[in-house]
Amino acid sequence: MTNACNIKGALLVLNSGSSSVKFTVFQVDTVAAGGHQLAPFFAGQLDGIGTAARLKAKAADKGLLADEPWGHLDKGTVPSVLPHLLSWIENNLPTDLPLRAAGHRVVHGGSLFDKPVLATASVIAQLDGLSPLAPLHQPQNLAAIRALAKSRPDLPQVACFDTAFHQTQPALSTTYAIPKRYTQEGVRRYGFHGLSYEYIAQYLAANKPGLAKGRVVVAHLGSGASLAALKNGVSLDTSMGFSALDGVPMGTRPGAIDPGIIIHLMRRYSLDADELERLLYHESGLLGVSGLSNDMRAIEASQEPDAQLAHDLFCSRVAKAVASLAVSMGGIDGLVFTAGIGEHSALIREKICRYLAWLGFALDPLSNEANDGLISTDGSLPVHVVPTDEEYMIASHTIKLQFG
Ligand code: ADP
Repeated sequence: MTNACNIKGALLVLNSGSSSVKFTVFQVDTVAAGGHQLAPFFAGQLDGIGTAARLKAKAADKGLLADEPWGHLDKGTVPSVLPHLLSWIENNLPTDLPLRAAGHRVVHGGSLFDKPVLATASVIAQLDGLSPLAPLHQPQNLAAIRALAKSRPDLPQVACFDTAFHQTQPALSTTYAIPKRYTQEGVRRYGFHGLSYEYIAQYLAANKPGLAKGRVVVAHLGSGASLAALKNGVSLDTSMGFSALDGVPMGTRPGAIDPGIIIHLMRRYSLDADELERLLYHESGLLGVSGLSNDMRAIEASQEPDAQLAHDLFCSRVAKAVASLAVSMGGIDGLVFTAGIGEHSALIREKICRYLAWLGFALDPLSNEANDGLISTDGSLPVHVVPTDEEYMIASHTIKLQFG
């Protein structure tokens, strides 16, 4: 392990999908009191890999670094373009900020991993075994780690899991009422968005210590959406389950639906697993109900009755999830909104909290419009808007694991 006093360099955080890679580069400095300080340096994404690749990147001060087609990579795959992206990133780093490590968002750590881990060959093999649990994301995440290891075997890589933070949950929260033989094979609730919840738990511990010790529901409302019950900063329950389909409606996913519907669709319409996967991951949720868009901004702007139904359905289901998670904690002391919708839509927050008035929640309209900090009235249980930062969480884990 490197001496904690000597670190100065850059840290790369990667979130790799099937046709895109999001990246954030942090500058790492050692602070006089010990420990490390992380500051975002630049960030961007390479989209359209395999069709019409395009690189966009911005510096931390929002100055544009790149917005250009990467046509020579149109026929590439994520693993084949990663070495090019890495070269671009390193060419844009000053010489006194060498790349010291990479942290990856990996969707599934299964029951095996309850914290981030150095991605050695044997760890990657273990994570590969979990691919059937997250077939759309896990193979892509691992392919990126392998590609980076091949082009830069000297660069330490750390895997950070969406599931790990929820490994504290009791069997009462993780068990499905199905035959035990399937539970033993891993068919259980795992929960996701763990890096976001961990960030919020740390934020509350540092900034709202009283509330952090209490019973808090965190609503991570983005394109993917879930909620978690945190008691004293520890995850007790969450709305997502075995897969990222469960829970509340999302941009293109339905959230919880009666499993009888799946049997019906298979029998009546002869849908196979691939067709069901497309329906449930890409055609449902806000898009399915509104017939208009998966983007909450477009839903909110529309006067169409189906768009308004999608909006109402989202708010009602999120409010029901809050109440359900309060049961798991034996009560509720506060609510936190985060992620794209949670951080930016005053209307969504207002509608959700109106459903929850009977629990003691009331929003102050002006504070709610401001999209930041405490947004509830004096007499209400506290409601906060806290911007999440999963990339920071990955960077922070990577630096701790690699450099102490
Ligand atoms: P993810 O990281 O899961 O892709 P984000 O956390 O970025 O998603 O959230 C994306 C969602 O946030 C989209 O549905 C988008 O419409 C919504 N969103 C962003 N800004 C606003 C806004 N001002 N009002 C309503 N929804 C918003």
